[in-house]
Amino acid sequence: MIKKICVAIVIYLSFSSFLFAQSDLVNVWKLDTTITLDIRYATTNNFTGKQVYDEAKFFLRNEPAMKILEVQKELKALGLGLKIFDGYRPLSVQKKFWQIMPDERYVADPKKGSRHNRGAAVDLTLVDKNGNEIPMPTPYDDFTEKASRDYMDLSPQIIINRKFLEDLLAKYGFIGLPTEWWHFDYNGWEKYDVLDVEFKTLEK
Ligand SMILES: [Zn+2]
Repeated sequence: MIKKICVAIVIYLSFSSFLFAQSDLVNVWKLDTTITLDIRYATTNNFTGKQVYDEAKFFLRNEPAMKILEVQKELKALGLGLKIFDGYRPLSVQKKFWQIMPDERYVADPKKGSRHNRGAAVDLTLVDKNGNEIPMPTPYDDFTEKASRDYMDLSPQIIINRKFLEDLLAKYGFIGLPTEWWHFDYNGWEKYDVLDVEFKTLEK
C-alpha cells in the first residue's frame, strides 16, 4: 500500500514539474488586451495559404513577455500600440513550414529550430490608436530584399518608422533580424529550449 502511494507521489511530482516547465510560456495578450493580435498562421492569410495554428494565440517565455508588456505601455502613452503577427510557434508547425518552403533564407530548418520555437522571438508592427498599421517597408512575410533592415529605397517617413520600431524594441532587449523588419529576437534566446507544446495544451 505504502509502495503504491509512493509511486503515485513520484508520478504526481514528475507530472507537475512537467506542467511547471510548460508554464514558463505566458499568454501575453491576456495580460494586456490592448495589444492587437493578427496571428496570421491561424488564418489562411499567410505565405503557406493554409491555417497552421488551431488558435490565434500569442505566447512568449516569461521574461520576453514582460518586456513586450513594457513596450506596449510606452507605446500607449504615445497613442500607439503593438500589432502581433506571431510569437511562440510549436516545432510541429515549423516542420510544416519546412515541407512547404525548405529554404533557410525564409524558414528555419526544424532540425535546428526557429527562435520562435523557443518562445523568444516575436513578429510585430505598430498601429495607431484606431488600430491602423503605421506604414512600414513591406507587408508581413514579404520575402524580398525590401524587407531587409538596410534597404533604403523607401520614403523618408517609412525609414523613420522602421528605425523608431527598431530602437524601441532594442531598448527592451529585442534585436531585429537583418532580413525581416518585423522579426525581433529576445537577447539570450539561446538559453531557451525548443518546445513542441501545442496552444491547446497551454493556459487559455
Ligand atoms: Zn519571425
